Amino acid sequence: MFSLSRQLRREEKVIGLVPTMGALHEGHLSLIKKARQMCDVVIVSIFVNPAQFNERSDFENYPRDLTADTSILANLHVDYVFAPAPDEIYPENFSTYVTVDDLSIKLEGASRPGHFRGVSTVVTILFNTVRPDFGFFGQKDAQQVAIIQRLTRDLGFETEIVVMPIVREENGLAMSSRNDLLTPEQRSAAAVMHQSLEEGRGLAESGESNASEIAEIVRGTIEKEPQAAIDYVAVVDNETLEPIDRLSGSVALVAVAVRFGNVRLIDNIVLGDSD
Ligand code: AMP
Repeated sequence: MFSLSRQLRREEKVIGLVPTMGALHEGHLSLIKKARQMCDVVIVSIFVNPAQFNERSDFENYPRDLTADTSILANLHVDYVFAPAPDEIYPENFSTYVTVDDLSIKLEGASRPGHFRGVSTVVTILFNTVRPDFGFFGQKDAQQVAIIQRLTRDLGFETEIVVMPIVREENGLAMSSRNDLLTPEQRSAAAVMHQSLEEGRGLAESGESNASEIAEIVRGTIEKEPQAAIDYVAVVDNETLEPIDRLSGSVALVAVAVRFGNVRLIDNIVLGDSD
């Protein structure tokens, strides 16, 4: 990958990297299609990153199907699939980690200690290896986006971050490789996450600017679903992830994490973004 990317840069190709953990679905495909439009060369990485899992069982149960993934990617005219073995990314005695202070300990970071250290470290290694002009990420993982934007700025990467909207299933559930771990009943119950966020949006659009009122309606709607166990409902500044009191003046991220049985899902909406 080092020598390939050096060669591509010499040819002045615009390189797009789409980092994934595989088990590809329409959410990933939207990033890849955008990359295909914007770049001469599209590289998709598939790496189930051990450093970002808190629980060994979650890492082991994570769905993997490289054969199915590569045939999807071939149909999308992806140029290269980068699927390194763990010891290529983390050689023996690996001991250098990248931590985006502050942003990494909130929200998902509070429930999943060390998760974002793993994400920031692997993205740094991927960016250094591929040296893409553009890196494509999904709004589904809003905190990951905030962290990677901060990381690329702070460390002076030349890679520009492109963020794509959340792709959803028909019932509104945000697509995720983890959805396959849900029972059919849980899968339909999980639609409540998106419904609750849309209620929050409706309230904001009708003029409510008190963030705790928005959080309450979201929380109340989820609580009505007996299969749902809320981890958090938060209204925060989209960039700093600091809690906000009022919606006016900042772009607000309304983020939720909810468990259905053993499966923990996340979703979010952004309020007050003119884009
Ligand atoms: P993952 O394979 O889960 O690490 O995801 C790889 C990339 O796809 C990340 O940038 C995710 O945010 C993005 N992604 C995952 N699910 C969705 C979705 N439903 N809509 C948009 N992007 C997504």
